[in-house]
Amino acid sequence: LPKNGISDALVATAVAAELTRQQSQIELIASENIVSANVMAAQGSVLTNKYAEGYPGKRYYGGCEHVDTVEQIAIDRLKQLFGAEYANVQPHSGAQANQAVFLALLEPGDRIMGLSLAHGGHLTHGSPVTMSGKWFDVVSYEVDAESHLIDMEKVREKALETKPKLIVAGASAYPRKIDFEGFRKIADEVGAYLMVDMAHYAGLIAGGKYPNPVPHAHVVTSTTHKTLRGPRGGVILTNDEALAKKLNSAVFPGNQGGPLMHVIAAKAVAFGEALQPEFADYAGQVIENAKALADVLMVGGLGIVSGGTDSHMVLVDLQPKGVTGKVAEIALERAGLTCNKNSIPNDPQKPFVTSGIRLGTSAGTTRGFREAEFELIGGLILRVIDALSHDPEGNAEVEAMVRAEVQALCDDFPIYATTA
Ligand code: PLP
Repeated sequence: LPKNGISDALVATAVAAELTRQQSQIELIASENIVSANVMAAQGSVLTNKYAEGYPGKRYYGGCEHVDTVEQIAIDRLKQLFGAEYANVQPHSGAQANQAVFLALLEPGDRIMGLSLAHGGHLTHGSPVTMSGKWFDVVSYEVDAESHLIDMEKVREKALETKPKLIVAGASAYPRKIDFEGFRKIADEVGAYLMVDMAHYAGLIAGGKYPNPVPHAHVVTSTTHKTLRGPRGGVILTNDEALAKKLNSAVFPGNQGGPLMHVIAAKAVAFGEALQPEFADYAGQVIENAKALADVLMVGGLGIVSGGTDSHMVLVDLQPKGVTGKVAEIALERAGLTCNKNSIPNDPQKPFVTSGIRLGTSAGTTRGFREAEFELIGGLILRVIDALSHDPEGNAEVEAMVRAEVQALCDDFPIYATTA
């Protein structure tokens, strides 16, 4: 058997290669993390065989006593993590969690207001290519051109002018704290629901290192696989009993069939890990590491959107070096540093090219990297980008030297060394 235990040769070979890729590159994609062996074991369990439409104690299938136990553990732990009264752990993904909220609270044609995709919002917050953009009347707010921060007074003015039925706060590429309390005040003033999509920040919030939206929002959605370090999936939280009922119906049967019970088991394990005191240390270290990385890149002559970070995320403006996000992403990948190109506010380049890259420290911190390692990584990134600024094809020699240093770091901080 191959070392990952899959006997289908074609699939096993690809999975083994992916394991090697993860072990030997530095993961800087801000939406990714490295789950524990326990989370993976739960997801790879016999619960994948079980149909369990409905909710614990009220299922449409027999034989649900054990999956009921698992789902109730996940619900209880999630409520405890974020101080919420009600939780739904069934959404298959973050996008489906958001869709379920729209189904519960809106009618087609209603107006929603979210952060524009080009300024850091997520596709599901109103982009015209998604259901949110096709079925609703979307107004977007943006970040300030100078500070790159969300200007709450401008958000308020836009909300008063356009009277949305639902306001979305939350982002995929916004490194700073979001004023959830301020958003709720605006929502109340215009009679809108406030939905917070905390997907990116959930782990930092669970660790007490980023503001918790649960006391302020009508409903909070999240993914479970980013800073929260669980399996890929979504969740929904609320403190309002009537909304909780609507949200449950919108998830099942409104938007999904049978829940993925093996994923819910993995969510339960991950929430258990996030409840441990060490997870607060992890969350704090993630942010310290991001600050260290941002500082090194800034000193090296790159632009940092908003001038720094309060989270796991650093949004880098490559324009001072005359390099695009597209070229940087590919060259960094050759050197063993995986990240994604990302639009920066008011980006002159098209979304497939971009002037920026988005970096995140969640996965590297799970590996054990601290400030010293992220300072080193910042230096490696600068070497690759400086070479690109002289030649858009990059410099093979520099990239090979950086690749070797990446490998040395990976060898010093191995992942899945004993479980592979
Ligand atoms: N919401 C935010 C803020 C995100 O960043 C993402 C994913 O990147 C999602 C929702 C969607 O999550 P998923 O990919 O699980 O559908």
